[in-house]
Amino acid sequence: MTTETAIAEAGRDFIRDIIQADLEAGRQREIVTRFPPEPNGYLHIGHAKSIALNFGVAQEFPGHCNLRFDDTNPTREEQEYIDSIQADVRWLGFDWGKNLFYASDYFDRLYEWAEGLIRAGLAYVDDQSQDEIRANRGTLTEPGSNSPFRDRSVAENLDLFHRMKAGEFPNGARVLRARIDMAAGNINLRDPVLYRILHAHHPRTGDKWSIYPSYDYAHGQSDAIEGVTHSICTLEFEDHRPLYDWLLEKLPVPSRPRQYEFARLNLTYTLLSKRVLTKLVQDGHVSGWDDPRMPTIAGLKRRGVPPAAIREFVKRIGVAKANSVVDVGMLEFCIREELNRTAPRRMAVLRPLKVVLENYPEGQTEEIEAVNHPDDPALGTRRLAFGRELYIEQEDFMENPPKKFFRLSPGNEVRLRYAYFIKCEKVIKNAAGEVVELRCTYDPLTRGGNAPDGRKVKATMHWLPAAQSRPAEIRIYNQLFAKPSPDAANFAADLNPQSLEIMKEARIEPAIAEANSAEAMQFERQGYFVRDKDSTPDRLVLNRTIGLRDTFAKEVGGKG
Ligand code: ATP
Ligand code: MG
Repeated sequence: MTTETAIAEAGRDFIRDIIQADLEAGRQREIVTRFPPEPNGYLHIGHAKSIALNFGVAQEFPGHCNLRFDDTNPTREEQEYIDSIQADVRWLGFDWGKNLFYASDYFDRLYEWAEGLIRAGLAYVDDQSQDEIRANRGTLTEPGSNSPFRDRSVAENLDLFHRMKAGEFPNGARVLRARIDMAAGNINLRDPVLYRILHAHHPRTGDKWSIYPSYDYAHGQSDAIEGVTHSICTLEFEDHRPLYDWLLEKLPVPSRPRQYEFARLNLTYTLLSKRVLTKLVQDGHVSGWDDPRMPTIAGLKRRGVPPAAIREFVKRIGVAKANSVVDVGMLEFCIREELNRTAPRRMAVLRPLKVVLENYPEGQTEEIEAVNHPDDPALGTRRLAFGRELYIEQEDFMENPPKKFFRLSPGNEVRLRYAYFIKCEKVIKNAAGEVVELRCTYDPLTRGGNAPDGRKVKATMHWLPAAQSRPAEIRIYNQLFAKPSPDAANFAADLNPQSLEIMKEARIEPAIAEANSAEAMQFERQGYFVRDKDSTPDRLVLNRTIGLRDTFAKEVGGKG
């Protein structure tokens, strides 16, 4: 794509406006963005917003987007997270090509630059404890106070810094701080910590380092090393920008990135803090990072959410400068819209109730043709066996129906989808008084689902043949949290006790079992489903991605 057409097609939010203006003014010929995750957890839907923005603008305008791991804290970071992040970005449909980087690649350079700051009198080694540093930082209304170690000589600072690196001091004994201004109105400028002592093994640099750069020190310089032009981050870093700019000004960096802040994604009924997500996994509230109730990319994927639905969602919510909370219903809408278009139709009975057609000849079966997609004839048809014994959904029968119940009840006639009209003649119960079987008759003249005499029925129900259908376990997921704004500090109290329902006795049509394992399917009248990785060759496990309609208030336990 040429620069001109790219520019003409872009410009839908303030970030794109800025980029377009920069390109038009010739400030850059190509842009460089980056997505900079810390590998201390799995990616979530909030990250998807940042990914789509950073990779998206690099596709729309001439330029590229780096994937850079901000791996400056080895105590919390793991290879598993590095691997999962790469897999998830790819699955979302984005490609960093050769542009995969790690902040740890720059540790040598960052160290040399820190020495340069010391030589210029712009950094010093502080022996105060973490608590003392915090206590002396001041408040929003009061200035901080200078460290007693602030005026050490350059030689002493260099010596101590070298010895910190050599591993001579225990964790927490000393830090390297920038020497800026303890009275600065912006607390981030009150001599921020640049390096801390940490005797920890790093997934990439091993045991080479006993000191690690702070995020604030590593971040902006990593951008500069990579030639990032537009360093896009979330609003909470707005107050850090003056510090990043101070460092970029003082250091011999090869380029000068500009930082722009946008509002992070918040979703109702959802918590997106990595601290909370990690706790949910560690404390066993969910089965893992990829539990289908998790807002992680891995969870959404396992639940059957197509990446296109996530991309559409983040496109619709847009990019703004003010924080807000997006209704999770918007995400669900995008998922339904995508799946409705693409998912083949199937039939499954979640809670089976047996039906015996008393006037259907014993031992006989016939084939019924069913369409795979009502709006897409190219998806063709399939055949279902029909015979004397069938299953219907328990909730499609009521012995004593209220006035508006049009499905099956004693004496009432309904249509079985694609098949026949049936009428309930007799109800069979077990010793406990529960309905266990229905005796029905069918009208052989209604084959295909229409009566030649023109009589109508008010309900069409899904069904399955008893013998030819297969057993399956079906898992229904509801919101993980029961409240629209769960409390991050005490999230366990807000968990929805009904977030997972398991139907162990479900029945499915054979085509479901034969499907390609990743294929999303619509089960008629039930919703969208996908095969779960817990499936075995003889027992299929299916996840409900989402119901057909927004039944959400009911699902989270409210009566609304
Ligand atoms: P934490 O939850 O601990 O604050 P984080 O979510 O910021 O961590 P990072 O790995 O630092 O985790 O995030 C990588 C990038 O994703 C950052 O640029 C961050 O701004 C962005 N990001 C994180 N959460 C969201 C969100 N909810 N909406 C949009 N972007 C986000
Ligand atoms: Mg972060």
